[in-house]
Amino acid sequence: MSKEIPYKIYLEESEMPKQWYNVRADMKNKPAPLLNPGTHEPMTVEELSGVFCRELAEQELNDKDPYIDIPQEILDFYKMYRPSPLVRAYCLEKALGTPAKIYYKFEGNNTSGSHKLNSAIAQAYYAKKQGLKGVTTETGAGQWGTALSMACAYLGLDCKVYMVKVSYEQKPFRREVMRTYGADVTPSPSNTTNIGRKILEQFPGTTGSLGCAISEAVEVAVSSEGYRYVLGSVLSQVLLHQSVIGLETMAACDKYGIKPDTIIGCAGGGSNLGGLISPFMGRKLRGEADYEFIAVEPASCPSLTRGKYAYDFCDTGMVCPLAKMYTLGSGFIPSANHAGGLRYHGMSSVVSQLYDDKLITARSVEQTSVFEAAEQFARVEGILPAPESSHAIRVAIDEALKCKETGEEKTILFGLTGTGYFDMVAYQKYNDHEMSDYIPSDEEIAKSLANLPKF
Ligand SMILES: *Cc1c(COP(=O)(O)O)cnc(C)c1O
Repeated sequence: MSKEIPYKIYLEESEMPKQWYNVRADMKNKPAPLLNPGTHEPMTVEELSGVFCRELAEQELNDKDPYIDIPQEILDFYKMYRPSPLVRAYCLEKALGTPAKIYYKFEGNNTSGSHKLNSAIAQAYYAKKQGLKGVTTETGAGQWGTALSMACAYLGLDCKVYMVKVSYEQKPFRREVMRTYGADVTPSPSNTTNIGRKILEQFPGTTGSLGCAISEAVEVAVSSEGYRYVLGSVLSQVLLHQSVIGLETMAACDKYGIKPDTIIGCAGGGSNLGGLISPFMGRKLRGEADYEFIAVEPASCPSLTRGKYAYDFCDTGMVCPLAKMYTLGSGFIPSANHAGGLRYHGMSSVVSQLYDDKLITARSVEQTSVFEAAEQFARVEGILPAPESSHAIRVAIDEALKCKETGEEKTILFGLTGTGYFDMVAYQKYNDHEMSDYIPSDEEIAKSLANLPKF
C-alpha cells in the first residue's frame, strides 16, 4: 500500500480542494458567539456587515455547513502558488538520528512569504464582489499586510494598512513590498484616527501594538464609504480559508498512505494551526481516526498555556466585538526583547474551544530555543524559516528526539508557515548571542487579566 515517498509531494491541479472545510460543523461544543460590545448580545450578520463584507460576516457565523465552495476566481488565484509542497524532512531526520518520520507543509512559497495569502485573496474577493472600493487592515511584522496588498493589487481594490510603528521603522523592506503592490501604509498609532490620537496623547513614545493598529483600521473602515475591515488571523472565517492547507495535506497523506500521529502548528491567532488541523480534527471528532495535536506558542506571549478562557476585546480600542478566547488581556504587550512573532494577546475562539475540550494540547517555548531550531533546520533542509514557523520546528525536533530515546517510529507533521528573509534583525541578535528570553511573571499576567471586561 505504501508507495516510495518522494522528497516533495505535490498534488495534481485536479486533486486540489474545491471547497473549504468548516470544522465548527463537526464540533460538539461550538465556539462561543461573538458579542456586541455595547449590548453583550450575540452579534448578528446585520451588525457584523457594518465592519466585514456580507459574505464574510455569514461565514463568520456559520457553524453548520461542513463544506463551503471556493469560488472559481479564488481557485484560479490559488493555482498561482498552490498546491504547496508536503516535504519529507529526510535530511532533518538523518541529522537528528531519529527513527521518527518528519513531514512539513511549506506555505512560504509565495512573495508574501507565508500562508496569509490563502485568506487575503478570499477576503479581497468578497469585498470586490460586493462592489466595495477598498479594505483596511493592520499588520504587525508585515506578512499579512503584504499578502493583502498582493490580493488587492490582483483584484484592483484599494488597500490601507496600519502597520505597528516599531515594525514600520525596523522593517522598511516589508513596508516597501506593500507599497510596491499599491498599498497605503501608515505607522500606528497615527494621528489619522481618533483612537490613534488618543493613544498618542496617553503614551507619547509608544511604538504601537497590534491591538492598537486594529482599532485604527476598524475606525477608518466604519467611517469611510465603500470600505470594510479585514483581519488576517483569529476570526473563524480566516480559519475556514486556511483549511486549504489541511485539505491539501490530508489529500497528499492519503495518496501515499501516510498517517500522521502528531500534528504540530505554531499559534499566534491560531489561523495556520486551525487550517492545518481542521480536516484531521474533523476525522477525530467524527470518530474516524485519532491524532495528537500540539499548538506551540512563545513563552513570552502564552495565551493558551497561561491565559484565561474568557470574553475579551480583540483590540486595544475596545471597538471590535467581544470574543470568548484564551487571552492574556487586550492590553497585554509582549516584552520588548521578544523577536519571534506570534504576539497577539488572544487565540481564535475555534482553537480555544478545541483546547478547552482537551482535543488539542499546547506548549510554550523560549525564543532562543526557537532560533536554535530554526538554524538547525535551515542548515539541513535549505529553507530559512520564519521565526513564527520555527516554534513548530522546535517542538517537531523535540518530539523526534524523544523518539530517538524510545525508538518509537511515529510520524510527525508540522506546518512550516513561512520564510524569514525579513527577520534578519532577529537572526542577527541570535547569531551575536544577544538574544535573551523573557517569561512574564504571574503578577504581570494577573495584572493584565484584571482588565478583562466584566459583565
Ligand atoms: C502570521 C503568521 C503566523 C501566525 O499566525 P496564525 O494566525 O497563528 O497562523 C505564523 N507564521 C507566519 C509565517 C505568519 O506570517
